[in-house]
Amino acid sequence: MNCPVCKEAMIVLELNDVEIDYCYSCGGIWLDAGELDLLLGSAQNRENLLNSFEKIKSKEKKRKCPICNKKMAKIQVGTDEKVILDKCKKNHGIWFDLGELEQVLRIGQLDDNSNILKLLEDMFSNIVNISKNE
Ligand SMILES: [Zn+2]
Ligand SMILES: [Zn+2]
Repeated sequence: MNCPVCKEAMIVLELNDVEIDYCYSCGGIWLDAGELDLLLGSAQNRENLLNSFEKIKSKEKKRKCPICNKKMAKIQVGTDEKVILDKCKKNHGIWFDLGELEQVLRIGQLDDNSNILKLLEDMFSNIVNISKNE
């Protein structure tokens, strides 16, 4: 699968037994619809997050779904702290720019013991270290 932002091939990483697609060049993350469910765990968490999604008009550049190649919708999450995500209209998945997945987890308080955040941090600090060692 190619990154919807820079069109580079993404790599598959495993996070909490969930496979996520990660772009080395821009740090973005693609989650298939099912992968997001797995990552969030309980149905209640999922419900809370999905209920906080709001379709908005945004000046941000439209991005294309890496699966169906159609333009994705802009979705806003959160009220005080806002994050704008790209979501496939056919529900293939959601695109998170660098840092947005962490923000969403924090806003939704979805990650009780910060397990996912910790995993993300570990995973990305490894990657950053590798890519900084030129
Ligand atoms: Zn990219
Ligand atoms: Zn799609």
